[in-house]
Amino acid sequence: MKPNTNTDFLLMIRKTKIIATIGPATSSKQMLKKIIEKGVNVCRINFSHSSHDDAKKIISRIKEINQELHVHTAILADLQGPKIRVGDFEKPIRLKKGEEIVFSTKKTKNTIHINYTKFPKDVVVGDRILLDDGKISLEVLSTNKKNQVRLRVVFGGTLKSNKGVNLPNTKISLPCLTTKDKKDLRFVLEQKIEWIGLSFVRSAKDIKTLKQIIKKQKKHHRIIAKIEKSEAIKSIDSVIREADAIMVARGDLGVEIPSHKVPVLQKSIVEKCIKNAKPVVIATQMLESMTTSPTATRAEYNDVANSVIDGADALMLSGETSVGKYPVKSINTMRNIIRDVERSEHNISKNIEQLPIQNNKRILSNAICHNASTIAKQINAKAIITITYSGFNTIKTSSFRPTSFIYAFTNNHTILNTLSLVWGVRGFYYDRGTTTDQTISETKDFLKKNKYIKKGDYVINLASMPAQEKGMTNMLKLSKVI
Ligand code: PGA
Ligand code: MN
Repeated sequence: MKPNTNTDFLLMIRKTKIIATIGPATSSKQMLKKIIEKGVNVCRINFSHSSHDDAKKIISRIKEINQELHVHTAILADLQGPKIRVGDFEKPIRLKKGEEIVFSTKKTKNTIHINYTKFPKDVVVGDRILLDDGKISLEVLSTNKKNQVRLRVVFGGTLKSNKGVNLPNTKISLPCLTTKDKKDLRFVLEQKIEWIGLSFVRSAKDIKTLKQIIKKQKKHHRIIAKIEKSEAIKSIDSVIREADAIMVARGDLGVEIPSHKVPVLQKSIVEKCIKNAKPVVIATQMLESMTTSPTATRAEYNDVANSVIDGADALMLSGETSVGKYPVKSINTMRNIIRDVERSEHNISKNIEQLPIQNNKRILSNAICHNASTIAKQINAKAIITITYSGFNTIKTSSFRPTSFIYAFTNNHTILNTLSLVWGVRGFYYDRGTTTDQTISETKDFLKKNKYIKKGDYVINLASMPAQEKGMTNMLKLSKVI
C-alpha cells in the first residue's frame, strides 16, 4: 500500500469520474501528467484518429505516470466501428437545396465517393442520409443496387472531405467490427488496457462477438457499449445486461435519432445502468466551446451539472482535450462543476431510490452491498471498505450510490485501473491480509494514516469469510475509528 501524492486531494474530493480523450493537445508526457494531476481518471485513445505507434507511446507514458504519482489511471481504447464517411476531394463541395447528386462506391468523376460498399444495396428510396453531424440532409431518389445512388439535397451546405455519414432509417449490413477494428483490436489486446469502446452497437450480439474474441485470446479487457444507434435504444435492456459498461455517445446518437430526444434518453439510460450495476459514461460536446474558448457556455455548465445530477459514473471530454486549445482549463471546469453538484442537495446519493434487493445467484453479496449503502447513509459513515479481486462487489456497492466513499483494496493491478472509471471508488493495492480480522484492521489503519478517515468516524468493511477462500462478499462489519 502506498499513499498518494498531493494529486490525491483533487482525485478524492469527487465521486464522478473524468475521462479525457488524448490527442495532439495532450499526448506529451508533460501534458498527460498535468491532466492526470488535475483529476483525469481515464485516458481515452480514439482509434478513429490514433495510429498504433502513437497509442503505444501514450500507453507507456500513462503507465510511467501511474507509477510516479501512485495513481491508477485507466485506459480506454475506443474502436471506430462502422463509421461511414465520404471520400477525399480536392476542395469543399457546395450542395444546394433541391440539387441532385450521385454517391458512388467507386472513385469516379462527378460523383461523391462513399467508403461503404454495400450502400447501394442497403438503402431504399426515400431513406434519409445525413452528412457532417446532420448539417446536410439528403434523400435517396434511386439506387442501382450495385455501386451508385442518386440523392436529392433536402438541406444544403458545404461538404468537406472525410465527413461522417449517418443513415438513421437504413438497416446497415456492415459488421460492428470492421477490418480496421479487427486490426486495432489485435493491437489493443496486446496492450495493458482496461476498457474497449465498441462503437455503433446495435444489439447484445455485437457485444457477445467481441467478448468471444477477447476470451479466445485469454484476455480480460472490459467492453463499453456505445449507444449511438436507434437499434441499440430498441434493445437497450439486453445491451446493458451484456455490456460491462455503457456510453451515451450523444454525438452520433443525436444524428441517428432527433437530438431533442437525447436528454430524456440520457436520463433513462443512466437510470437503467445504475439499476443493473453497470458503469455509465456521458460523452460528447460536454464543454465543446472550450475547444477554442477559455470559458464554457452557461448551457454547457448546466449540461455537465445535470449529468452529475443524473448519477453518471463518468463524464467524457473529446475534442476539448484531444485537439482543443484549453485542455487543462476544460478539466478544471468539469472538476469544479462536479464538486459543486456533489456537495449540494442535488447529489445522486441524496436522491436515489433504493430498490429491493435482486433475488439472483448473487443474493448474498447483493444484500450486503445494498445494506452497506443504507447503513452508510443512516449513520453518516465515512467509508465503505471493500476487498476485491474481480471488482464485482465494489461496482455493485457503487451502484447503490452511497453517501460515503468506497475504498477498494485489491492485489489485482488491472482491477485497480478498471475501477478508476467507477463512481465513488478509490482503489489501493493490498496483498497482505490472511485473515479477515487482519485485513480489516490493516485497511482501516492505512486509510487513517493517510487521512481518508479520522478518529471517531464510522466505517463499514465488506469481506468474504473465511478470507482464504476468496469467495463472495458475505460479511459486513461496522466500526468506529479509534
Ligand atoms: P465518437 O463517439 O467520438 O467516437 O464518435 C462518441 C459519440 O458519438 O458521441
Ligand atoms: Mn460516435
